[in-house]
Amino acid sequence: MKQELAEEGSRCSILSKQHRFNEHCCIRCCAPFTFLLNPKRLCLDCQYNVCKTCCTYSKRDKAWLCSACQKGRWAKQLEVFETENKALDIMVEVLKAPPQDASSMSKGKGR
Ligand SMILES: [Zn+2]
Ligand SMILES: [Zn+2]
Repeated sequence: MKQELAEEGSRCSILSKQHRFNEHCCIRCCAPFTFLLNPKRLCLDCQYNVCKTCCTYSKRDKAWLCSACQKGRWAKQLEVFETENKALDIMVEVLKAPPQDASSMSKGKGR
């Protein structure tokens, strides 16, 4: 129990340090923020500050997304796409299978 609390405490201190680091530097490429040349942007998904080159504006969300979170979103979309495709394959197999089975069942076993 004490160990768990200690672990939680150390985790928080690490996070706060990271947060302080993130106040001044991009969480993705570690480039320091400058007022005009490299302004920081807050990522919608991970809530970290990222630099101009590491984020893109999402028109749908009307917010900034860092490259990592954008990739994460693509991966999720791809996953959905793949599972839909797999479901389609299974459906095609199911649709193909019954006639073959039915013919072999009725005719093939007549020996
Ligand atoms: Zn960056
Ligand atoms: Zn992010």
